[in-house]
Amino acid sequence: QPVLGVLGGGQLARMLALAGAPLGVNTLVVDSAADACAGQVAPLVVADWTDYAALEAFAGRVDVVTFDFENVPAETARWLAERVKVSPAPLALAVAQDRLAEKTLFRECGLPTPDFMTVDTREQLDQALAVVGVPAILKTRRLGYDGKGQFRLRDRADADAAWAALGAQASRHGLILEAFVPFERELSVIAVRGRDGDFRTWPLTRNWHVDGVLSMSLAPAPDIEQLQQRATALARTLAERLDYVGVFALELFVKDGELLGNEMAPRVHNSGHWTIEGAHASQFENHVRAVLGLPLGDTGARGPSAMFNWIGELPDASAVLRVVDAHWHDYGKQARPGRKVGHATVCATGAGQLAARLGQVAAALGREAQVAPVLSALG
Ligand code: ATP
Ligand code: MG
Ligand code: MG
Repeated sequence: QPVLGVLGGGQLARMLALAGAPLGVNTLVVDSAADACAGQVAPLVVADWTDYAALEAFAGRVDVVTFDFENVPAETARWLAERVKVSPAPLALAVAQDRLAEKTLFRECGLPTPDFMTVDTREQLDQALAVVGVPAILKTRRLGYDGKGQFRLRDRADADAAWAALGAQASRHGLILEAFVPFERELSVIAVRGRDGDFRTWPLTRNWHVDGVLSMSLAPAPDIEQLQQRATALARTLAERLDYVGVFALELFVKDGELLGNEMAPRVHNSGHWTIEGAHASQFENHVRAVLGLPLGDTGARGPSAMFNWIGELPDASAVLRVVDAHWHDYGKQARPGRKVGHATVCATGAGQLAARLGQVAAALGREAQVAPVLSALG
């Protein structure tokens, strides 16, 4: 039986392991935390990213290594790649880890991005504000996720506060100042490329964030017209440039009807969780297939789906389980403010039916506000 090695033991590793099981694929996970939630469904090696003795033994036990987490040091990925197949390749990981490299690649591939400038000193922050303008967002170039490592500036007087929040990280990770985009919509395209170059995308997903954290997703994104074709073509260009193998997500803003690139995630992605029940083959199944060199599955949607993220703590499961074609995912994590602890996906055969089912979940959980933007997008 093939063995999939996963660096990082969060919910993404957990869902990869669950998707691998029916394919006869065993999973072995590495995480520095002994209580990493993937460890509840797959064997776990407890080691940090510089524990080369443990990583050497891990490499000897797996057929291919992949990531649940893009912030594994690129050096660790390269070291492993000398011993075992690593997919996606360390180069793709390195590009996606750095907002500057990522945005530069987007532009080279014909995908515009918000205006940006790198910032390494307090002085450069003022210079960047003069060029990029306000409102703007100051972000760490590396290691940010779920909106962490970001500071929003409404006007130039916010520069001191922004520097107080993030300046200490400037010398270590570098910062980038981005123009704040008053976007009409946020979309993501989840894509997969096989070892043989076979390339597929799932239908575009529309996403809503609250405080920089994904709150709701709806797929297929309604009323996107020609944006699907454009997003698919851009994702394919990126994948080919990086000789990418596996699943990745490309996060997009729509402004004046045009796509702007926000960032890419070199892994399965939260906005693709709906594919578990809502698509013929899920992002997790296709990632396992891709990295093991198996044929890819059908990325078509079965019908419309919407996903709720459960942040901080889980609501009442039975309120969701009572709704037809609603699916519950508990990651087995301790409740903690801001932490992603689970999600639910509601599927249907049409927009009206999906809206009705979302309304049932919202009413039972008192989450009308969370669902409201999705209901209005469904019309
Ligand atoms: P993730 O968990 O997706 O990796 P992250 O910490 O890398 O998140 P971003 O994707 O850069 O953060 O930002 C999180 C969210 O904040 C975006 O999805 C978007 O809603 C908002 N945002 C980020 N950058 C901008 C921008 N330049 N203009 C407008 N909104 C933005
Ligand atoms: Mg990110
Ligand atoms: Mg993001």
